[in-house]
Amino acid sequence: MSEADCVFCRIVRGEIEAEVVYDEDDVLAIEDINSKAPVHVLVIPRQHVANLEEIGALPDTVVKRLFEVASTVAEKLGVSEGGYAVTINNGPDAGQEVFHLHLHVMGGRRLGMP
Ligand code: AMP
Ligand code: ZN
Repeated sequence: MSEADCVFCRIVRGEIEAEVVYDEDDVLAIEDINSKAPVHVLVIPRQHVANLEEIGALPDTVVKRLFEVASTVAEKLGVSEGGYAVTINNGPDAGQEVFHLHLHVMGGRRLGMP
């Protein structure tokens, strides 16, 4: 998967529309197109890295921002108090579909480990 065809790189470049929930220099948060919970947002670094094996390519500050933005989005969408899950599907057995690292922030219903 090259950055040219990567769906999240295309969203970052504005080539595909998305429902943007939060936007800053290095991190973007969008509504998941196929939401699996009342709140289901994807937190995406603008820089393309495929998975956790490549996370070293991201500046430390950006890695930290991914988690801070997850918390900000949860607060903004009203699930901070009730709680929410932050998930990374990494690789085929985890069902990773988009090979551009992202956090799922899911809340608004009871969630837990399968
Ligand atoms: P995964 O790679 O398993 O973490 O899943 C990728 C997630 O991206 C899925 O939940 C999809 O519904 C979501 N997704 C795929 N394409 C888009 C898109 N164009 N806009 C928003 N979400 C998307
Ligand atoms: Zn990408």
